[in-house]
Amino acid sequence: MRSGLAETIQRSMANITVPNTRLNTNSKAIPLLGFGTAEYPFGSSDNVRECLLDAIRLGYRHFDSAALYQSEQPLGEAVAEALELGLVNSREELFITTKLWCSDAHGDRVVPALQTSLKNLGLEYVDLYLVHWPVCVKAGEYELPVKKEDLLPFDYEGVWKAMEECQQLGLAKSIGVSNFSCKKLEKLLSISEIPPAVNQVEVNPLWQQQKLRQFCNEKGIHITAYSPLGAKGTLWGSDRVMESEVLQEIAKAIGKTLAQVCLRWAYEQGVSVLAKSFNTERMKENRDIFDWSLSRDELNKISQIPQKKGFPGVEFVSPDGPYKSTEELWDGEI
Ligand code: NAP
Repeated sequence: MRSGLAETIQRSMANITVPNTRLNTNSKAIPLLGFGTAEYPFGSSDNVRECLLDAIRLGYRHFDSAALYQSEQPLGEAVAEALELGLVNSREELFITTKLWCSDAHGDRVVPALQTSLKNLGLEYVDLYLVHWPVCVKAGEYELPVKKEDLLPFDYEGVWKAMEECQQLGLAKSIGVSNFSCKKLEKLLSISEIPPAVNQVEVNPLWQQQKLRQFCNEKGIHITAYSPLGAKGTLWGSDRVMESEVLQEIAKAIGKTLAQVCLRWAYEQGVSVLAKSFNTERMKENRDIFDWSLSRDELNKISQIPQKKGFPGVEFVSPDGPYKSTEELWDGEI
């Protein structure tokens, strides 16, 4: 169900309306449509800044970055240029997320890692700082796949205390996690002074995450959906979502694209949704999901699609590491 706290911002420049919702930190509201910046291979395009500026022009205000993606610097440059050009009146109008990579998931590395991200972004604070995975690897490398021999146990207390410090120092307005199961969230909640505001996870019609969504709803943790289109063409994705016959039929019947059906479906589940496209026409298409809705019958058809996780994260599993199987990584919630 959509949050009762949902508000509406008018985007007069791009003439679109993107709803948003407040997080449990009660800081700035998070726009329910965000723009993904993870291209694969990371850092492979040299026009990312222009793409991001285009996205701002088209009315996107929520941007999802990560230390891993190599997109912090171009995002920062696009923000600076958007301010200079008057596309946005102030930095306050933007909601910027970045993430702590596994090689910085050591208590003493978290604050310095965020300081480095802020330097890359050219910003004084991020709106949201996320622990990218409940995974720790030896300090130093920013790469996916990680080296299996570098996998170490994840230090919940040390990492989360330092995440809390990031918020207390004003470097992050809100803090949260990504790729956490219900069980891992329970553990985190039991040791946290500041509960996570967000859990960013894979959500799309082929991996609907009903149990996790319900759990987070009860605990006041907002869900952000990543890979809503199945992340075709990346290491972590496939074409399964874009080739779903059920989705193709619905899209055809209502005169929308399959991508729009996925994004609208996610939005109607009450989560915020991140879509990545560096193509201007597809950016527009992905944005135009707020002036129509899916019928009960269409939602019902989507609810019956067989479920299979797109990215089980075998990259983080090793017989010699802390997670011996994907079952352990996701605590059986897979
Ligand atoms: P996605 O948004 O599901 O899919 C992106 C792919 O779909 C790209 O190949 C894109 O190509 C294509 N695409 C976009 N719009 C389209 C459209 N309308 N029609 C056809 N194809 C379209 O995948 P994602 O990038 O994995 O997820 C979105 C964001 O979530 C990421 O960029 C990242 O910021 C975040 N994320 C987070 C995690 C995490 O662990 N926390 C993991 C994965 C992703 P073009 O660019 O050519 O349009």
